[in-house]
Amino acid sequence: MATLPNLNYDYDALGKYISADIMRLHHSKHHQTYVDKLNAAIEQAPELQTKTLEELLGSIDSLPENVRAAVRNHGGGHYNHSLFWQWMSPDGGGEPTGELAQKIIEKYGTFQAFVDEFTTKSLGVFGSGWCWLQPNLDIITTPNQDTPIMQGLPEPLLGLDVWEHAYYLDYKNKRDDYIAAWWNVVNWDYVKTRAKS
Ligand code: MN
Repeated sequence: MATLPNLNYDYDALGKYISADIMRLHHSKHHQTYVDKLNAAIEQAPELQTKTLEELLGSIDSLPENVRAAVRNHGGGHYNHSLFWQWMSPDGGGEPTGELAQKIIEKYGTFQAFVDEFTTKSLGVFGSGWCWLQPNLDIITTPNQDTPIMQGLPEPLLGLDVWEHAYYLDYKNKRDDYIAAWWNVVNWDYVKTRAKS
């Protein structure tokens, strides 16, 4: 049984960059719906109930056909959003330090060049999807609620939700303004923790 995780901060904590209205709607409605619809799908396939979410998503192509699309969309949505809340913090922003920072600079030249590349790829997602930083520091995108582990890739270090529901109330159609604001709340401490595990 999937459940909606609590945020580590209040809905208004990111307010300067992402409003309380967006956070409340995104967490309590959009994410809750992914949780509810994932649970409804799993009820249709009791043999899946003992599997972890990561196991389900990692074997998406071999799941029973009657639940595969629902697990892909809603299980993916639950997984992605559960991470997304942790990737943001009112104490976030700035640049990572230590080994992660060093590796980003080795690969991209400068931290700003990495930010620019991640931003360009996020802007390039047509319609709804996500942009990811992988453990090898590749930047990749997925459509809809697809997630790297569905492709047999490792769990991402960092991800950005570029669905319109993540920014439309604050930024209307201006995804670039949303992305520019989002860098100010990125929780690099959590990203660094994931890079070590
Ligand atoms: Mn979302």
